[in-house]
Amino acid sequence: ATPTAIMVGSGVGLNRGILFKSAAVLEGIAHLQVIGFDKTGTLTKGTPEVTDIILYDSYTKKDVLTIAGAGENPSIHPLAQAVVAEAKKEHLIIQEVENYSEVGGYGVTCAYESQQLLIGNIKLMHLNHVDVQEAEKDFHRLAEAGKTTSFIALGGRVIGLIALADVVKESTKEAIDRLHELGLKTFMITGDNKKVAQMVGEQVGIDEVMAEVLPQDKINIIKKYQDQGFRVAMVGDGINDAPALAQSDVGIAIGSGTDVAKETGDVVLVRNDLLDVERAIRLGRRTLAKIK
Ligand code: ADP
Ligand code: MG
Repeated sequence: ATPTAIMVGSGVGLNRGILFKSAAVLEGIAHLQVIGFDKTGTLTKGTPEVTDIILYDSYTKKDVLTIAGAGENPSIHPLAQAVVAEAKKEHLIIQEVENYSEVGGYGVTCAYESQQLLIGNIKLMHLNHVDVQEAEKDFHRLAEAGKTTSFIALGGRVIGLIALADVVKESTKEAIDRLHELGLKTFMITGDNKKVAQMVGEQVGIDEVMAEVLPQDKINIIKKYQDQGFRVAMVGDGINDAPALAQSDVGIAIGSGTDVAKETGDVVLVRNDLLDVERAIRLGRRTLAKIK
């Protein structure tokens, strides 16, 4: 009866767009104690929009959007795509950049018309010894308003700030509530700044918020829980969190995510509905009850 019960469990999941990669996963998910979520694209819609553009050094809004659009164009990061979308909305031409590279958890670097172009968070500026003094007050004001802000630095000087706002998915709060009802502890890991992360955390009622975490450190948070003896799941879209999905006892890839998430995940939630996390756990528990 054992293999049959597992097949039935998987089959029911399949109909609901909940894909279990193996029978063992059904058992793993039934025993979860702690569950972590990536913020951007998982708890939030992940389609941020540009809300403010702050200018320095006599650059115009058009200049800053043209330059930022060029630098962000090669990136698939949601923040990057939002900047490119805004530039296109203004009918600006997206130029090609040279020596492009992406620094996970920080932003992007490249050469724009032979000058170094940096687009990313304040840590990226610090890393490259860019003086942020003039922009700091604006940055803090935007963060207080819950906005994620990208610094645009050309030739070692900040020429503008682009603030972006992302909204929480409609079902996120209910999904978190239901997991608490199942007795799980919840946490959020994000590379975004503390202020923005805390605001989202409070909005959705998550137990613990860990912000400004670099992609390579996300894995350590999972390990910390595991070292304490907990069985941990991680839910994410794979942008900068595939290693954390791989480290967790059950990696849960959510629908809109990257192919890498779908490959790494033990469970794939096809419908991009966070309520499916709780459904998957209940399915695992029911299947296990049948086996016993
Ligand atoms: P999250 O954990 O919220 O998914 P990431 O680890 O993907 O966040 O990114 C963390 C932070 O790194 C972002 O909030 C942003 O400040 C910065 N960042 C990463 N990639 C980019 C990019 N392409 N453009 C601008 N900022 C970026
Ligand atoms: Mg992410």
